[in-house]
Amino acid sequence: MNIRDAYGPNRFGLSFEVFPPKSLEGDRQLATELEKLAECRPAFISCTYGAGGSTSKRTLEWCGRIQQEFSTPAMAHLTCLNSTADSLKHWMRQAFDSGINNLMVLRGDLPRNASTGGEEAPGGLRRAHELVTLARELSDSIGIGVAGYPEKHPESPDDETDLLHLGTKVRCGADAVFTQLFFDNRTFLAFRDRAIRAGIQTPIVPGIMPVTEYDSLVRISSLCGSVIPDELQSGLEAARHDPVAQFEFGVDYAIQQCRDLIRHGVPGIHFYVLNKAAAVRLIVRELLFDARDLSPIAGRTPGKQLASCDKDLVAA
Ligand code: FAD
Repeated sequence: MNIRDAYGPNRFGLSFEVFPPKSLEGDRQLATELEKLAECRPAFISCTYGAGGSTSKRTLEWCGRIQQEFSTPAMAHLTCLNSTADSLKHWMRQAFDSGINNLMVLRGDLPRNASTGGEEAPGGLRRAHELVTLARELSDSIGIGVAGYPEKHPESPDDETDLLHLGTKVRCGADAVFTQLFFDNRTFLAFRDRAIRAGIQTPIVPGIMPVTEYDSLVRISSLCGSVIPDELQSGLEAARHDPVAQFEFGVDYAIQQCRDLIRHGVPGIHFYVLNKAAAVRLIVRELLFDARDLSPIAGRTPGKQLASCDKDLVAA
């Protein structure tokens, strides 16, 4: 499936994001988890790309496996920092030749000691919009996703400047915006309103990460800068010494977030699953139960789409 079709009228695009593991054992575990994720019948599963190209082969390898072994469309992430246009074109051609129809086009994070503005390899690209343009030059039909930041990108001086740059990525040919994870829906909804006012008309898909351990909440929030609502922090903290209670609290929090987003007419949800299926399967199962009552909301029918998702999952 091309992401252009995932968010059409009356469609609801469920998607998952995984990363290439660093060990053989990790590979084995990911294969097991992908089997369970594929049972949710997502519109696609995306695989990340290591900064500076550190996983360039592995990203393609896992996207190939997602499509062939797990019969699920894949989206390959690609970053441009410290890569030449020629090497990026070569990689994209390989992706297209192996049947990958979707790219998540990114700049990549700056090295920790870099001050600002993007690093540049000789003949390289500095910003994601340049890579969107390059990808579009190679293919009109490929689905292109780009990153959006409800709490603004950390290098941006303010929300408006950040949105201006998001608008450039869209004008260069992006088909959908996938957001950085957030824990407070109000930040997403305000961002979506600002984006619409700024003329961005592509689907804006919220990124949700179910956090089921207090320690990872603190680490994740410091990495991506997302504000942690008191309710989430205190709930996970209170259950800190009880892994099962932490898991249940984190799953329930994500379910409430997703329900509210669906009520607000989002075109889909992109889950950051951290290579694990258990939490997201429970979340999708709950949304499937809801789906009976989710007939058209804001012109979309998540109920219909989710209901065709996986009946066995509901029975599980
Ligand atoms: P850009 O869109 O290029 O923006 C980077 C910064 O530059 C922003 O502050 C922007 O406002 C600013 N900017 C843009 N254009 C201009 C301009 N013309 N003048 C001045 N400033 C400008 N990282 C990985 O390494 N691998 C992955 O697989 C990966 N997947 C991701 C998936 C999602 C859905 C998200 C949200 C992020 C992902 N990231 C990934 C992280 C991403 O690479 C970083 O957030 C990175 O710092 C910015 O990437 P970008 O594509 O948003 O860059």
